[in-house]
Amino acid sequence: MTPTNDELFARAQAAIPGGVNSPVRAFRSVGGTPRFLVSARGPHVTDAEGREYVDLVAGWGPAILGHAHPEVIAAVQDAAARGLSFGASTPVETELAELIEQRVAPVEKLRLVSTGTEATMSAIRLARGFTGRDLLVKFAGHYHGHSDGLLAEAGSGLATFALPGSAGVPAEIAALTLVVPYNDLAALRGVFAEHGDRIAAVITEAAAANMGVVPPAPGFNRALVELAHAHGALVISDEVLTGFRVSSAGWWGLEAQTDDASTPDLLTFGKVVGGGMPVAALGGRAEIMERLAPLGPVYQAGTLSGNPVAVTAGVTTLRLADAAVYAKLDEVSAVLQRAVSDALAAEGVAHVVQRAGNLFSFMFGDAVAGGVHDYAGVLAQEAWRYPPFFHAMLDAGVSLPPSVFEAWFVTAAHDDAAVSRIVDALPAAARAAASA
Ligand code: PMP
Repeated sequence: MTPTNDELFARAQAAIPGGVNSPVRAFRSVGGTPRFLVSARGPHVTDAEGREYVDLVAGWGPAILGHAHPEVIAAVQDAAARGLSFGASTPVETELAELIEQRVAPVEKLRLVSTGTEATMSAIRLARGFTGRDLLVKFAGHYHGHSDGLLAEAGSGLATFALPGSAGVPAEIAALTLVVPYNDLAALRGVFAEHGDRIAAVITEAAAANMGVVPPAPGFNRALVELAHAHGALVISDEVLTGFRVSSAGWWGLEAQTDDASTPDLLTFGKVVGGGMPVAALGGRAEIMERLAPLGPVYQAGTLSGNPVAVTAGVTTLRLADAAVYAKLDEVSAVLQRAVSDALAAEGVAHVVQRAGNLFSFMFGDAVAGGVHDYAGVLAQEAWRYPPFFHAMLDAGVSLPPSVFEAWFVTAAHDDAAVSRIVDALPAAARAAASA
């Protein structure tokens, strides 16, 4: 007999804290039993009970081509057959670095790591090593991974659990991070006026998408870079989530086409650059990147960094992500934004569609209906309307992010049939949200 999701979860909870290896997967904010997935293909995931869902999580971002794209799988199988890990340089690593550098002009040199957490952690160490300063500025509701010092008022799982930070982070380390409301230039100016000569860097999500989606106000990223540079501080633009998802050059690429173009000093990537395998990266101005070991005094290393199988998945994904893929992501995203919004409106559920490129999420309630610009705004929503909405969709075979504080992710494999299945499920879900 195939075990049920309930049985698998019970067994997992006995062996693994909370039954999960990353907190949001536990369904704590929506309730119920997480689905144990056994396969994924195109726009679908399939659970251990054999039930197929249209997927709007996309592995939390990487699967822009859809799951298990045949060419990516073939390339990975080919690479795997030649050996899983060498702990030595490989030609494919340079290929990935070159691909990223060709697309994102501020990236002159790039180093590969395995997770987004490692990328931001290393970028911060590098910024501190380069400037000789200690303080870091981050924005409330932005998530940059789980390293010490970055959990203060972070989004993602921490927003779900409403924790201000984390136990186990020494106060002395937390005190080196200054948290500022997002999109608030006056507050940022205030922090620079007071501590400007001690600030190594400002780290920002290129467009915030870990508290739900909250885009930067027009000109905010540019003003942020100007302000930081005026004080001798660096800017780290975290594109772990937006990079190569919202455009072929990430959020930087979208802004580069407007009057809001800016040049961050360092950028971090993850998710899409690994095509679903553990690859992430930090890159930026050569002068800064060359402070990394072995050239410079800032230490950074990794047994699995640049792993040949993982990097092959990333290179193949980026090569396949042509203009048609990005056009499709934008199209599916726009159709779903409209369909969800219409369904909610039809049931009288006050809400706002928050969008940043093809990333989007919904926030509920009159308090947010005019649009949300910061974390305080996010927390003002009627978050309790999301769990019944989520479960109605799940019952109808649509897998949404299991928290209202996460973005929705489409793939280029979301064909008409997949979109129809989502659209058909919406009226009942909107009714559930209305009566919550
Ligand atoms: N930065 C951002 C913007 C992210 O969205 C995430 C993960 N959601 C991270 C960093 C951390 O990446 P990882 O989970 O790979 O450590």
